[in-house]
Amino acid sequence: APVIFWFRQDLRLADNPGLTAAAQQGAVIPVYILDDEQPGTWRMGSASRWWLHRSLHQLEQQLQGRLLFFAGKAEEILQRLTRAVGAEKVFWNRCYEPWRIERDRRIKETLNQTGIGVQSFNASLLWEPWEVLKGDATPYKVFTPYYRKGCLGRTVPRSPLEQAPALHFYSTTNISDGCPLAALALLPSQPWHKKLEQHWQPGEKGAHQRLNDFIAGGLDGYRQGRDFPALEQTSRLSPHLHFGEISPHQIRQTLLTAAATENISAADLDHFFSELAWREFSYYQLYHNTHLPELPLRAEFQRFPWLKDEEGLRSWQGGLTGYPLVDAGMRELWQTGFMHNRVRMVVGSFLVKNLMLPWQQGESWFWDCLVDADLASNAASWQWVAGCGADAAPYFRIFNPVTQGQKFDPDGAYIRRYLPELAQLPTRYLHAPWTASADMLEQANVRLGVDYPLPIVDLKTSRKRALAAYQMVRQGH
Ligand code: FAD
Repeated sequence: APVIFWFRQDLRLADNPGLTAAAQQGAVIPVYILDDEQPGTWRMGSASRWWLHRSLHQLEQQLQGRLLFFAGKAEEILQRLTRAVGAEKVFWNRCYEPWRIERDRRIKETLNQTGIGVQSFNASLLWEPWEVLKGDATPYKVFTPYYRKGCLGRTVPRSPLEQAPALHFYSTTNISDGCPLAALALLPSQPWHKKLEQHWQPGEKGAHQRLNDFIAGGLDGYRQGRDFPALEQTSRLSPHLHFGEISPHQIRQTLLTAAATENISAADLDHFFSELAWREFSYYQLYHNTHLPELPLRAEFQRFPWLKDEEGLRSWQGGLTGYPLVDAGMRELWQTGFMHNRVRMVVGSFLVKNLMLPWQQGESWFWDCLVDADLASNAASWQWVAGCGADAAPYFRIFNPVTQGQKFDPDGAYIRRYLPELAQLPTRYLHAPWTASADMLEQANVRLGVDYPLPIVDLKTSRKRALAAYQMVRQGH
């Protein structure tokens, strides 16, 4: 009897434990199911759908056109399919989003009831969230002990599987309810996604290419350079990791192998591994707090007097706040589906502190626009920025977008890249154009309020307002 392998967040052939196990059982039917109903609010966003389309296209080619696509409820589709082909086993790799955990448990139960076996594997995390616990068997709340004691204290349970398994496909010519990839309608009707094409190469091959480029170009000096958005010093592996086109095991092993022969500083390598561990910690937090994407982990933040400000939100989304570093970040997001981590922290702080808008509004904009939109990392990071997470930046630490710009984009290269309307301003004024004289602005062809907005809030007064609100919440009002 054929076995079914269900692709999900593991769109690769190599180091895919579930696929390897399925291939050892006999002829395989590989399937992908687009389920848009069950995630509710967390239905995949627009940029992610573009990425997914491209990645599935690659995978379909790697599988010689044998990948079957379906749209709809996974439980119904898998039941129908197993019955139609007489499959007795279904294999998949585990996902960790709460809605998926619940759904997968249900599917496993129903399939088991009809005599069909299900086997699941870990393909996307170095450490399973339920395995890393404190001495008293409760989860860690703080990153450093989680990583140092909980993770590094136990080593990584498995090595990457080197090669893609040899696959024998089951002939599925008589299965009528699969559909072509195009029928999943993942691409938008307006061709805005064309701009994303220039920046990314979704799929397994692109992921490894990206990793090699990073080893050749970004890793040396990563620790210092990772904070400067104009530099190409970070890996940009996040969307590839999200869709499972490459596994953290593969990344880790490739880097360790490279470090054995090349001159790679331990400080850069360790720092990079600790960033990968922040990804693990995000999944860990989501697993142990299923409401992470919606509710603040610190309960007092449920009383926070967030403002309602549609216009402010729109200015932030459109990169029209009048603060160049914030606006450059929001335009980078819009143009490339990505934003540098330092700038994500700055735009996040601006939204939840200077504009005092709920962090969930930022989270949901990112969800729609990021190619690496990830329920765990996005939710955990927004809670970190808003100060309401378990191990978060304290709310009273408010980033100043002007000084952040001066420090991390000192020659203005990042701002000029995304705000061409300010390109001719001398660097001294670039981070705060309203401080330039009228003559200076005229020489640089900038009409403030026309070509580029005046600041939509005052940094000092909005900072005071945020701190007063925080004080109130802390005192229990
Ligand atoms: P590198 O510096 O090369 O790091 C390597 C890998 O480590 C990344 O690919 C990523 O998988 C992981 N990583 C690095 N930093 C973090 C972090 N702080 N938290 C979790 N994982 C991390 N990351 C996402 O993958 N998806 C999101 O939806 C997301 N939303 C975010 C929202 C906000 C407000 C903030 C402040 C951060 C968010 N991040 C998110 C985390 C981080 O910004 C990105 O993972 C990182 O910028 C990706 O770039 P890179 O691959 O070049 O990172």
